Amino acid sequence: MLCSRREFLRRAGTVTLAGTLLLEEMADSAWSRSPGARPNIIFIFADDHASEAISAYGSYLKDYARTPNIDRLAREGMLFRNCLCNNSICSPSRASVLTGQYSHKNGVRGLNGTINESSPWFSAELQKAGYQTAVVGKWHLKSWPKGFDRFWVTKGQGRYFNPTFYTKPDGGKVSETGYSTDVYADYALRWLRQRDTEKPFLLCLHFKAPHHPYDYAQRYGKLLEGVKIPEPPNLYEDIAKTSPRLKNGRGQVMEDKSRNGYYSRHVKDKVPPMPPHNANNRKARVAAAYQHMMLKYIRCITANDEAVGRVLDFLDDNNLSDNTIVVYTADQGYWLGQHGLYDKRLILEESLRMPLLVRYPGVVEAGSVSDKITMNNDFGPTFLDYSGAPIPRAMQGVSLRPLLEGKPPADWRTDAFYCYWSKPSHWGVRTERYTLAHFPRTDEFEFYDNQNDPWQMVNQANNPAYAEAVTDCEQRLARLVREIDFSPGDYPGA
Ligand code: CA
Repeated sequence: MLCSRREFLRRAGTVTLAGTLLLEEMADSAWSRSPGARPNIIFIFADDHASEAISAYGSYLKDYARTPNIDRLAREGMLFRNCLCNNSICSPSRASVLTGQYSHKNGVRGLNGTINESSPWFSAELQKAGYQTAVVGKWHLKSWPKGFDRFWVTKGQGRYFNPTFYTKPDGGKVSETGYSTDVYADYALRWLRQRDTEKPFLLCLHFKAPHHPYDYAQRYGKLLEGVKIPEPPNLYEDIAKTSPRLKNGRGQVMEDKSRNGYYSRHVKDKVPPMPPHNANNRKARVAAAYQHMMLKYIRCITANDEAVGRVLDFLDDNNLSDNTIVVYTADQGYWLGQHGLYDKRLILEESLRMPLLVRYPGVVEAGSVSDKITMNNDFGPTFLDYSGAPIPRAMQGVSLRPLLEGKPPADWRTDAFYCYWSKPSHWGVRTERYTLAHFPRTDEFEFYDNQNDPWQMVNQANNPAYAEAVTDCEQRLARLVREIDFSPGDYPGA
């Protein structure tokens, strides 16, 4: 087995200064050439885990949604504050991660989509390059995993308890007992223990949690019991006035008038005590729904954090931490009551922004933060870059390597394209300061100044003071359309 640079120097023994320099040079060249030095990659992919519910992000929930193990990745690596998805919904984001492409290119615009045959997969490229590869957990695509030596994936949403894994395209399956996050981590660790230690590996560990209905492991049943969880400042926003089109496009409001006693079509359990619906107690209903949702959500993500801790402990115990890139992210953000919403789908911040934490000791500076705009289709190019494998030209994302290594290029992207095809269909651009959303069917706009209005409460689309900024965003959108080859037939209103 090829040794690491550090081991190479240690084994070389005591030498003179000149000899040390020579040896360091030799070690450097052995390091860069050695297949053993190619980093392992562990990609941990949660479902709907908002960055507000990761304590390292320091949000108003940081003392309640405590994630000490995920926080370790921030403390020992880099935290990204502006990682954005190009289409804020489960299957499309998964397809963009795997292919490095926007939804209109990989073919997955909505739920349960199939990835185009012509699209590249980073897993297949790593496999070709000699990586051993495995994926465990939620999959939520119609395409079978490609480029994975082994897979244990659930179908559709999968179940929170007693998951069934599909292991072969021809229908091989295995049913397990236990809480999904725990079982997925068990499988991931077992595969790591059984792997060929002579080859680098890619492990994708995809949690179902904390997707609604936020079912948690029984052992967390007392967590935060009786504690009042802080509310976001825009929990009681009246979106019928502020943004009936965007924020109420799919009825993802916490105060659901159609279901007295429930707060959503997704969370089926009753919310005690849920006041009856009438014009005078909307606030009380939203407050009750919020506390109920957050309690379940935080209990749910606690198991994600625990599983991350098990993976990091395994790396430490097996001397793998230094040569393994560990990533924690989620397929999109999630509304935790902001604008009175739950769920995702919108170009607005808490839905658009994905958590992203990357640890790679010795390469990524511990405790570093990047505010640059990064995207879910950058992950594949990044992994391929570090593995030394070629990045297929069809991948549209960009390797994050220069950001991870503290050298952001002067021409790094300053805007991101977004398109959501289902209701409410909209597309737009998010720059370092502004968000522009366009509704092609009615040709209406919403525009937010995220610097002066970080909670995105005031639509400035028709404010003359912002006319220049709106025009700039329209021009950026026109440029992005050309850059990513978004054709007239791809428009959400087409
Ligand atoms: Ca999701």
